[in-house]
Amino acid sequence: MDHYTKLILGLDLHHIANSLMSIMCVLMCITSCGKTQRVSSQSHTEKVEWGYETENGPNVWAQLSPEYFLCAEGRHQSPIDLVNPTPAKLPPIPYEYHPTSMNIRNTGHTIEVACPEGNWIEVDGTRYELLQFHFHAPSEHTVAGKPFDMEAHFVHKSEDGTLAVVGLLIESGRHKDAFDPIWSHLPTVPGETQRIENVTKDGSLIVDPRLMFSPNDQVEDVAPSRFGDYYRYDGSLTTPPCSEGVKWIVLTTPIEMSEAQIAAFKAIFNGNNRPVQPLNGRKLFMDTNEDG
Ligand SMILES: [Zn+2]
Repeated sequence: MDHYTKLILGLDLHHIANSLMSIMCVLMCITSCGKTQRVSSQSHTEKVEWGYETENGPNVWAQLSPEYFLCAEGRHQSPIDLVNPTPAKLPPIPYEYHPTSMNIRNTGHTIEVACPEGNWIEVDGTRYELLQFHFHAPSEHTVAGKPFDMEAHFVHKSEDGTLAVVGLLIESGRHKDAFDPIWSHLPTVPGETQRIENVTKDGSLIVDPRLMFSPNDQVEDVAPSRFGDYYRYDGSLTTPPCSEGVKWIVLTTPIEMSEAQIAAFKAIFNGNNRPVQPLNGRKLFMDTNEDG
């Protein structure tokens, strides 16, 4: 082997050794990077999801995530006890809801009905689009300390992102037809979605949010389409992250649902209610309009 060949071979060997080292480094990096990813995704799934049990319920929501700090530190929280309201001449709240197809989802915290665009209420001259409505059992708001069997929340959002929620208290009594399409499709498993298609029954569409507000399941009862007789205060979401700046409208007159309807919901969710929060100097108004 002459000097030149020796030199080439030496270079090659050196090159090969270097390449092997590089490959090993890359392999080690891939392995350890993979490990890091696995560890972080593992700790992510171990994060406690909020709920209503002792270990993840309302008393500890703020401890579950820094994003939930308002659940403990907020001063304008919901729900509240509706007691000693200030009588006021509040304007009736115009609304426009339409019968339509809707998706019903079990979120793991409630049964939520997602609404398509075109349903709205108007508060203080601002329009709020209905996003969804959902249910709590027992009620979240209480009236002079008294809880109701259930409460429905109709969640609306304005163009600037402000939320307005209409609360509907529900007590045990007569069967409520308006909820039949939803109650016959109640998704029992978290994450499960059911879809109610437009189906006509006696010439009318069966999923009609307007009827939920009518004592007799008659659209005429709620015409003209204005909510009257309501409590009004500024509060928050009643679930994490407990964001404030929510305009609350709770109708003073409860609606009735049958024991069987209430039991069907409670078989899936019983106790998905946050306890009442202190008023902390906020004003609670009650509408005194006779004609509202
Ligand atoms: Zn709610």
